[in-house]
Amino acid sequence: MGFREKIMTREIVGNKYLDTFRTALLKRNVKSVSSVIDLIDIYMVYQKHKSDIPTSPLIVGGGSNLLFVGNYSGPVILNQIKGIQIEEDLDAWYLHVGSGESWHKLVSFTIQKGIFGMENLALIPGTVGAAPIQNIGAYGVEFKEFCDYVEVLDSDTLMLKRLCKDECQFGYRDSTFKQPQNKKLIITGVGFRISKEWKPVLSYGELSKLDPTRVTAQQIYELVIKTRKEKLPDPEHIGNAGSFFKNPIVTKEKLEFLSQKYPDMPFYPIDEKAGYDFVKLAAGWLIDKCELKGFELNGAKVHEKQALVLINANNATGKDIALLAKIVQSSVQDKFGVLLEPEVRFIGKLGEVNALKYLSKISYQND
Ligand SMILES: Cc1cc2nc3c(=O)[nH]c(=O)nc-3n(C[C@H](O)[C@H](O)[C@H](O)COP(=O)(O)OP(=O)(O)OC[C@H]3O[C@@H](n4cnc5c(N)ncnc54)[C@H](O)[C@@H]3O)c2cc1C
Repeated sequence: MGFREKIMTREIVGNKYLDTFRTALLKRNVKSVSSVIDLIDIYMVYQKHKSDIPTSPLIVGGGSNLLFVGNYSGPVILNQIKGIQIEEDLDAWYLHVGSGESWHKLVSFTIQKGIFGMENLALIPGTVGAAPIQNIGAYGVEFKEFCDYVEVLDSDTLMLKRLCKDECQFGYRDSTFKQPQNKKLIITGVGFRISKEWKPVLSYGELSKLDPTRVTAQQIYELVIKTRKEKLPDPEHIGNAGSFFKNPIVTKEKLEFLSQKYPDMPFYPIDEKAGYDFVKLAAGWLIDKCELKGFELNGAKVHEKQALVLINANNATGKDIALLAKIVQSSVQDKFGVLLEPEVRFIGKLGEVNALKYLSKISYQND
């Protein structure tokens, strides 16, 4: 039995779309996996029939960081590997979590169990397995702070191994899993180490109004959910993938130059990996200053409240959204001389394509 036939034997029910932009309809060559054995089974068949299949399977979790720009025609593996195991010692909690668990459900589960620390990361869509890939972050906290190890299946050798935190090379929206040579690694589980010494992180936005001496993790969790619901469009109703672009990192000289013209321009310090000579600018602020909030093109739109979020307002295709992203990117480049790099991963006809290169090539003329 060929790979294509085998994957067609399972039905996926539920959501109509593969992605939260709601542009890629679920097709029949999607197979859901609920265990590592399932995954090995798929890759054994795939390796046997490799020459007949144009691309290796695309792993999809919640589809909340994907933009389909080229009618992807290859096989899709929908990750539903579940399970949470908990251990503890005097200093910390240790969790092993199946990579197909929902990230937000995991955060809620920890809070209910009295395991505090991840409350700032509530309501981020997607799966636990995708969290290490871009080292998800929000409200001054990043995934890497809780990472003990990441368990992966090497889809070439079909061997399971664990990468310790240092081996994952976490950075701002970055990790070793984004390197081309590591795209063959399928994340099957994540190990967490959550310290029992809880300290609230209240440095960002609404959270800074809370009293650090009295606040509880539950209150932070609730405020994060409330704020995110007010500020971000719900992908269940309006197609989007959260922040479309990363916050750009620039040199301190560039910051000084821009600050002379725009004294109210916000900027943030970044981690030591990028060096102390650099700072992070707020991509949303730059887009807003280009007066693009609410700008619409072929049903793709810059969100009216959050300029960093592009939405599928009215039957836009992935290409329409990419075209809008190009306009946003060019406007910011022209006004500030700063290049915005997509945070969202672009999927072309045969799999992932380099988003920056893709945007540099598209235009109204050839699309
Ligand atoms: C409304 C909204 C708000 C958001 N807010 C935030 C935020 O605050 N902070 C933040 O960091 N992100 C945010 N995001 C982005 C997104 O939620 C994260 O990037 C999330 O981790 C993606 O998870 P996913 O399971 O949906 O991944 P997918 O979109 O399914 O996949 C993303 C990439 O990871 C690969 N992949 C997925 N699972 C695996 C696996 N098990 N093994 C190997 N590769 C895999 C895919 O092939 C793809 O290349 C937001 C998105 C939305 C829609």
